[in-house]
Amino acid sequence: MPLLRLALPTPLPRLFDYLPAKGQHLPQPGVRVQVPFGNRQLVGLLVGFTEDSSVPVSKLKAARDYLDQEPLFDAEHLDFLIWVANYYHQPLGEVVQIALPALLRQGQALHPPQQPRWQLTVQGQGLDTRELAKAPRQKALLEYLKRHSGAPQQKDILGAGFNLPQLKALEEKGLIESFTLGRSNQGVGLPLLDVAAPRPREVLAEVPLKLTSEQDEVVQKLIASLGRFQPHLLLGVTGSGKTEVYLQLIQQVLERGQQVLVLIPEIGLTPQTLGRFQKRFNRRVAALHSGMTDRERLNAWRSAMEGKADIVLGTRSAIFTPLPRLGLLVIDEEHDASFKQQDSVRYQARDLAVLRAKRAGVPVVLGSATPSLESLAHAFSGDYQLHHLRQRPEAHIELPQPKLLDIRSRKLEGGFSQPLLKLIEKHLKAGNQVLVLLNRRGFAPVLMCTECGWIAGCLNCDARMTWHREPAKLHCHHCDTQQPLPSACPQCGHTELLPLGSGTERAEETLQERFPEIPIIRIDRDTTKGRSALQSKLDQIAHAKPGILLGTQMLAKGHHFPDVTLATVLDADHGLYSSDPRAMERTAQLLIQVAGRAGRAEKPGEVVIQTHHSDDPRLEKLCVDGYEALAKELLDERRKTNWPPYAYLAIWRVEAPQKEVVEAFMQALNEQAKYYLAEQPEAVSLLGPVPAPMERRQGRYHMQLLLHADKRAPLHRFIQRLLPWLETTPLARKVRWSLDIDPDDL
Ligand code: ADP
Ligand code: ZN
Ligand code: ZN
Repeated sequence: MPLLRLALPTPLPRLFDYLPAKGQHLPQPGVRVQVPFGNRQLVGLLVGFTEDSSVPVSKLKAARDYLDQEPLFDAEHLDFLIWVANYYHQPLGEVVQIALPALLRQGQALHPPQQPRWQLTVQGQGLDTRELAKAPRQKALLEYLKRHSGAPQQKDILGAGFNLPQLKALEEKGLIESFTLGRSNQGVGLPLLDVAAPRPREVLAEVPLKLTSEQDEVVQKLIASLGRFQPHLLLGVTGSGKTEVYLQLIQQVLERGQQVLVLIPEIGLTPQTLGRFQKRFNRRVAALHSGMTDRERLNAWRSAMEGKADIVLGTRSAIFTPLPRLGLLVIDEEHDASFKQQDSVRYQARDLAVLRAKRAGVPVVLGSATPSLESLAHAFSGDYQLHHLRQRPEAHIELPQPKLLDIRSRKLEGGFSQPLLKLIEKHLKAGNQVLVLLNRRGFAPVLMCTECGWIAGCLNCDARMTWHREPAKLHCHHCDTQQPLPSACPQCGHTELLPLGSGTERAEETLQERFPEIPIIRIDRDTTKGRSALQSKLDQIAHAKPGILLGTQMLAKGHHFPDVTLATVLDADHGLYSSDPRAMERTAQLLIQVAGRAGRAEKPGEVVIQTHHSDDPRLEKLCVDGYEALAKELLDERRKTNWPPYAYLAIWRVEAPQKEVVEAFMQALNEQAKYYLAEQPEAVSLLGPVPAPMERRQGRYHMQLLLHADKRAPLHRFIQRLLPWLETTPLARKVRWSLDIDPDDL
């Protein structure tokens, strides 16, 4: 008898065998199966069958129920999920968890339960309603059903003021009957109300823009690669019309009857983005993002996997959506950090997009004004086709070159130097908008006693507490601890406490004092809580002329501010001399993204960056020669130091409340790793173990061990050998550990 082999949502890194459910036909792989697990019921995914289990058959439990008639994932998609599980060394059950919408994980049906509908029987149709004169509500109900001949849903009938006893009474008299539209009885003599609308022949709903010659050249090259695997990197300055390029390429794919998957950063999926796709095509567009209800997500997911939606527009996890007719993948703002998941399965959606394209034999387009060094390295080596868009279609002016403003010996007011304030004033006087980026929220990052030098620190973290004004509190941004503001120094009792440095609240205050008449729109996590808060802030911006847009990196992402003529960065220094090898790449991306907000319409723009290091050659290179030139240099550095993308990393992160426990575990892991390397040498080196950059966080101690290799294969072989040891060592149960393949943060 074949046994079911299931992926279950448990952290145990293996598959589980069950006896088939009694009295039911064997299902196909890819369906969900409900099974007993300990004293719980779990929803697992059938991966395949086996004849022999490592567990004696007498000990195996039977599955309780099959939850799907048809597989949710076909063999090819299952294979993709298995690949992901293997590559990231995570249980397949965890990958399936990410790949399924929440309601399906919870065991709900793929199709929503149908509401009962009511219609007249033949007898009811022939009845003269006056015969019901003694029961006026029943009479009214019958008349209602005569008027609404399309078999209304029960909920609509109840909503019209009738009740269930009235329905039952008419049913007993044989005048009306109820039915539901199941999947299986659809179309058997009943009104069909849930069929997909017939497909319009014309793909386009609006006339596309006339491409510039630069855009046209790119679109032609992209079209030429349809139908086969080819990664493309589209390096287009902000405002160069990348979206129009995607849209015109997508048109070709839709005309071939294929589906398109478009991934965008968390913050980029605004109603406007969605609207741009919906307006252009006579095709169904399904959105998948975290702002939706579980029901909405399931509906969108289902329409994608059933092939009804032709375009799927989603954030990171949409990469797992099954698409039966996939013809193209697009990753917009491909450098964005939100494509990397930072817990459970730590996957990089950009990498998986290239993998999926390869497996499906279709092109993938990665687009950005500031591509990741990984993608640029692939482009320079020829693995990816590189395309440039250097101009803005509507700009009659040069793109502004960022200027560095040295603030080394200048007095700052809320983070602003005097020359910068004067410049802001000039742009406001001209009736324009100014964008100010300060990547730090709150009032001040440090609160210090002027007498003894005490600094407000977090009790749970090796971090300072940020002083927030509105509402007044000390707040740790790492563990979310909040405390009331102390009225005096807890160390010496002195009552004068001094805020050092500035966050967005302080910058706002400074600007308000200086420009009392000017509207200031602040956008950071504190001012954009709630579902529509960001959108309403963005809407305000359109009317603030002159006005100031102030905010954290949320401001630098995706949005277009056509009236901004001055974009300025208050503090570019964070990241210039950081221990994180990616810091400079990230800083450069942020600066260029901010710069891209200026001068988008007819008005020429200016970009000014305040720094204490105006002589830093990398900053200088970025401003004078541009992002790509700097990226080449950074890649040279990476190659010389044998660092990704020219080498491969994995990081083991370990944490526990007690430092000794973490240290003991790390030592054991390190020794085991060294032992394996001595026993069977691999081209893998161990860097560490060392304390994490913030050793104490959320009341727990953190350490890490970095694995470095010149090639992927030995790194993964080595991890594969270490994992079984981790499963069995008792020490591992006292700590929380995680493995991050191709980590973003070190
Ligand atoms: P990007 O995504 O590269 O930052 P967008 O695609 O958002 O740029 O385009 C920026 C602006 O340029 C948009 O307002 C868009 O409508 C406009 N645009 C793009 N292509 C053209 C074109 N060929 N002709 C006229 N306007 C265009
Ligand atoms: Zn003090
Ligand atoms: Zn903290």
